[in-house]
Amino acid sequence: MRGIEEIYPLLEKPRRVVIIMHQKPDADAMGSSLGLSLFLRKLGHHTTVISPTNWAEWLKWMPDCASVIDYEFATEKAIAVLDQAEWIFCVDFNTLIRTRHMAARLRKSPAQKILIDHHQQPETPVFAYGVSNTAKSSTSEMVYDVIVESGHAGLIDVDIAACLYAGVMTDTGSFRFPGASADVHRMVAALKDTGLNHTQIHENLFDNFLENRLRFIGFVLSNRMEIFYEHNAALIAVPWKDLVKYEIKTGDTEGLVNYPLSIQGIKLAALIIDRDEEVKCSFRSKGDFDVNTFARTYFDGGGHVNAAGGRSTDTLEVTVQRFLAALNDNSSQLQ
Ligand code: 5GP
Ligand code: MN
Repeated sequence: MRGIEEIYPLLEKPRRVVIIMHQKPDADAMGSSLGLSLFLRKLGHHTTVISPTNWAEWLKWMPDCASVIDYEFATEKAIAVLDQAEWIFCVDFNTLIRTRHMAARLRKSPAQKILIDHHQQPETPVFAYGVSNTAKSSTSEMVYDVIVESGHAGLIDVDIAACLYAGVMTDTGSFRFPGASADVHRMVAALKDTGLNHTQIHENLFDNFLENRLRFIGFVLSNRMEIFYEHNAALIAVPWKDLVKYEIKTGDTEGLVNYPLSIQGIKLAALIIDRDEEVKCSFRSKGDFDVNTFARTYFDGGGHVNAAGGRSTDTLEVTVQRFLAALNDNSSQLQ
């Protein structure tokens, strides 16, 4: 993989560009994709953003989100666009598997793939150009860096700023995680200078749910959360029937895994959800317990040191038993 700066001179010639993100995109994946797309259009490129799957309702306010193609829902349309692409930007994911059903097609595509990502252990041989930096707060910050370093800071308007702000704000836990560096705050200052209304973005993202989601959170915190004080860990295990009962949609469980970390002394929080098609795992930690390695070792996943995910093909009950065994194995690192 050659450095991303090698594409800067090439940006001046318009191309057919596709931008893709990981499945079930979060605000950083969607924000960095849309921010990059809006920027490249200003340089004259023809851009299309594709998501491997659907996305949460609370992302739909983002500028130009309505034109994003859902690969699972509109596969033919997405394939037609992919087949025409000269460049495919891969943002906010490290391995093609994270694009689910798109992965095989991407691997075969003759288009040049360009990585912009902050996850651990990227699959670099797949990419012609790119930047991978796990020290970065968010992919949105990295897209901002690309725009500035390529000499185009002046093209950042309020729409691009809104997309990038949403990504950096959510991936830093509202600027509380260690990744919220001085550079991040300087970037936010520059975004504010475009006229960005950050209060509105917080409302769009955090005050934009339906009643059933809050009732669901109340229910699972009361009935599905177990604390293992001997390991400084907590688990929320959610059966499929709870998702059905509370009519839980994509994005409604985002943030749930963080609640146990607000308990004194808890260093590891796990959320294991039976999504019917698969069992999805989310892990969060405080301090130096590395959930990227944990997710990779036990749950076919990965991510960052303090936030990672994975999956299991076992039942919820068996997955929980496997988690408890893994917890025992890691108990000394959690003291
Ligand atoms: P979440 O728990 O919100 O799904 O994911 C937390 C972090 O881990 C995110 O940065 C996400 O991109 C990453 N992640 C989630 N699931 C997986 C996975 O299965 N594999 C890899 N490599 N990363 C994941
Ligand atoms: Mn991210």
